[in-house]
Amino acid sequence: MRELHHSTVADLAARLRARDVSAQELARHFLDRIAASDLGAFLATDPEASLAQARAADARLAAGDTAPLLGVPLAHKDIFVTRDFPSTAGSKMLAGYRSPFDATVVRRLAEAGMVTLGKLNCDEFAMGSSNENSAYGAVKNPWDTARIPGGSSGGSAAAVAAGLVPAATGTDTGGSIRQPAAFCGITGIKPTYGRASRYGMIAYASSLDQAGPMARTAQDCALLLSALCGPDPDRDATSLDLPAEDYTRGLDAPLDGLRIGLPREFFGEGLAPDVRAAIDAALRQYQALGATLVEVSLPRTELAIPVYYIIAPAEASSNLSRFDGVKFGHRAGQYADLADMYRKTRAEGFGEEVKRRIMVGTYVLSHGYYDAYYLQAQKIRRMIAEDFQAAFAQCDLIAGPVAPTVAWKLGDKADDPVANYLADIYTLPGSLAGLPGMSLPVGFGAGGLPVGLQLLGPWFQEQRLLNAAHRFQQATDFHLRRPEGV
Ligand code: GLN
Repeated sequence: MRELHHSTVADLAARLRARDVSAQELARHFLDRIAASDLGAFLATDPEASLAQARAADARLAAGDTAPLLGVPLAHKDIFVTRDFPSTAGSKMLAGYRSPFDATVVRRLAEAGMVTLGKLNCDEFAMGSSNENSAYGAVKNPWDTARIPGGSSGGSAAAVAAGLVPAATGTDTGGSIRQPAAFCGITGIKPTYGRASRYGMIAYASSLDQAGPMARTAQDCALLLSALCGPDPDRDATSLDLPAEDYTRGLDAPLDGLRIGLPREFFGEGLAPDVRAAIDAALRQYQALGATLVEVSLPRTELAIPVYYIIAPAEASSNLSRFDGVKFGHRAGQYADLADMYRKTRAEGFGEEVKRRIMVGTYVLSHGYYDAYYLQAQKIRRMIAEDFQAAFAQCDLIAGPVAPTVAWKLGDKADDPVANYLADIYTLPGSLAGLPGMSLPVGFGAGGLPVGLQLLGPWFQEQRLLNAAHRFQQATDFHLRRPEGV
């Protein structure tokens, strides 16, 4: 029998139902591991609160409840607000903040019987690709602790990879589930924009933000996604009026005849040879599983970077205007008048990258520049979505790298925002189009660091992505490999 912390969510759930282990034993086991870890993945734990949830789960189990996730532990990215734990969004601005309510995603997973073990580190307000923008320190990649875990859901990815939790939530605005999943050798899925409620997700760029699960396997992601999705009409006007699906159905469907589109622009200059080699091998595996490969084109791929880095900061500058020191969060200690209080509060509370984006966003929305930047970016965003629609006429799903390289060294790009932005090239187009996307581990590059394969599907086709990822995982064992010492 594998160690508890090497088990998948599906295994743990089965063992809980078989009464082979209790929810309280599991919570204790993982809490001990969290306490002993020095990766910096967790920002908050509260063993008493977690054990109370575990006791409630054990009572449901004892009463014969067979809910599929009952008693399984997880942790939430600190972008989700939670009643039982502080919620900081990785920012000093929200140090010590307690929400009076749970985010819808948190509530749904709690109702499914999952036990929350704490809150996970992330880039401040989910702005970043390395987790180095957290006000609470960087997270280390468990595969090489001198390297970044990716971002912005870096704590989530590192925690799962290190066996501190069997699953975690993440959020993805421009790649923040897919890229850290890739860098830490785990599986993650961002559903179609609108599938998961954004209620209680601290807003970064509202037209892009989406929640999703991060875990070891596609099957585990399917289990969590089934529980966390669904309409939330009273609380998130952009949540889709589509019933939650059971994504575990259809995982085993054969891939014969599946047409996988390879965007020419995802395999060009800039893609590191070691990443390319792992992706190519994965594609050969897909051929062996019955899929056919077709070349497609996403001609505006490069434009996704400037378009995203106009639209996302524009929305952020508006969303973050609520942090003014009046109702909640940090407030400057000394100030002359109201304007001075706003100014000092925001100057002290926000980090460098967040301030940079607020300024860029304010600029591109300002009178005189709105048409030249923001409006233009919106038009190109539409064209990027149209490019995907044209590509999906020729294929069932799109595959490519998640990131151009494996995880880089801590500090390497810390002083170079543009270098960070450029590394988002393969995840941004799907985000701008609102498509479902996932990352699954498919090999190792230089230094034995994990490489992720990105799968993108047409709107609402999460099932197709999970099926393709699951079949790959049935035929390979990359998702079961662990960093040394874990
Ligand atoms: N790396 C991207 C950014 O810095 C994406 C972040 C995200 O998806 N939250 O904005």
